[in-house]
Amino acid sequence: MKETDTQAASISFADLPLTPAMLANLDQLEYRSMTPIQAASLPLALAGHDLIAQAKTGSGKTAAFTLPLLARLDPSRLAVQAMVLCPTRELADQVTQEIRRLARCIDNLRVLTLVGGSTLRNQANSLENGVHVVVGTPGRIMDHMERGYLKLDALQTLVLDEADRMLDMGFHDDIAYVAKRCPAQRQTLLFSATYPEGIAQLARQFLRQPQEVKLAEQHAASKIRQRVYEIANDERLEAVAKLLKHYRPLSTLAFCNTKQQCRDLLNVLRHAGIHALTLNGDLEQRERDQVLIQFANNSVSVLVATDVAARGLDIADLEAVINVDVTPDPEIHVHRIGRTGRADREGWAFSLCGPGDKRRLAAIAELGGGTPEVHKLAELPAADEAPLVPPMVTLLMLGGRKDKIRPGDVMGALAGEAGLSREQVGKITVTDQNTYIAVARSVARDTVRKLTAGKVKGKTVKIRAL
Ligand code: ADP
Ligand code: MG
Repeated sequence: MKETDTQAASISFADLPLTPAMLANLDQLEYRSMTPIQAASLPLALAGHDLIAQAKTGSGKTAAFTLPLLARLDPSRLAVQAMVLCPTRELADQVTQEIRRLARCIDNLRVLTLVGGSTLRNQANSLENGVHVVVGTPGRIMDHMERGYLKLDALQTLVLDEADRMLDMGFHDDIAYVAKRCPAQRQTLLFSATYPEGIAQLARQFLRQPQEVKLAEQHAASKIRQRVYEIANDERLEAVAKLLKHYRPLSTLAFCNTKQQCRDLLNVLRHAGIHALTLNGDLEQRERDQVLIQFANNSVSVLVATDVAARGLDIADLEAVINVDVTPDPEIHVHRIGRTGRADREGWAFSLCGPGDKRRLAAIAELGGGTPEVHKLAELPAADEAPLVPPMVTLLMLGGRKDKIRPGDVMGALAGEAGLSREQVGKITVTDQNTYIAVARSVARDTVRKLTAGKVKGKTVKIRAL
């Protein structure tokens, strides 16, 4: 197969010291070639080096630390051998999922998430039953260590994921507490999207002769089409609605610099008939999860967020990014627009430029080399007043993993009870307590009615459209 590998002079997964079972699993997951950060860090990490790796969001950092930690792990020994620290609960959940996928080829591998939202007692019970890998937030992991629930004497690999974000969130002392209590003989892998001074300091404290892998921020310029629209300040929010109705992207992430701006924009978009939700720190965890699920399954067109709220989230398939406010930091700008135009798809990046934003955009253009096309808002044809309606609707069904619900059961009921075809069903997301089902908008109401009257896995269910 190697000759079909397009990464000419570089190596492929098959050149790495991975088991045949892992290679087959990667192939099933359609990980055909390494991402640049994986190509740069995997050979070093698999050889046992400590690592400082920096690359942008969405570049495949999770697999870059997961493959090495799995490679060192002895599944027959039921003890915590690897630990991943993440800044937030949802990042920890995402990492856990990715580890589980990558570990499918290892029998009985146990991965546990240690974050708020579930009681310490429940988590302590799971720890007592034995786990190989823990993923969690520094605060919660520290709690378990202090109480003696989490023992780390068998730990071989410590991963600090999104280390810059953890520092931003004030986790330095918690990380230090945890790292100091890990066995000295261990491998430490530090992953970060940016490289502020705090990271170097952290690395000096807790890594041993680390190898540094940095990938310059580079987006394939051709895949992201950048356009600047000149606006007056008082038309900024209306301009977002106008752009959306003109370009009509399936999914858009709109960045604001403040939470207040997020709220204001949400109101304007809703008035314009655009399905939008916002992600901010004031939401409860369950609400955040719901927002992300609805956005990812195409039942919401626009997600409005600040940089802090959107950092690190793996939201695939964005058709557009809108800089509602231009950020003062060129590096953040590059991060923002890198959310679109992923993989082989093209993406739009729009920036709204008021009189006070010109200097910021000039600084950004300097950093990125190119100068984006500048347009006048008035160039857009008279507003297309058709509302922007997402193709799917999310149905919330009570009952989830705790009730042994699997996506297959739900698909069975949708086909059987509600008579839906595969094309009318989108993503089915099963969480601990709930199941979120994306169905085509046109059949949503009928599906709720039929499922309420019928059964899923032999039981009646409570279900409603979000
Ligand atoms: P990061 O942590 O750098 O933000 P992730 O690890 O979350 O990025 O990966 C982003 C997405 O890319 C995930 O959906 C992941 O499954 C996918 N991915 C990672 N590595 C590969 C690969 N080699 N080939 C194809 N997809 C990959
Ligand atoms: Mg990540």
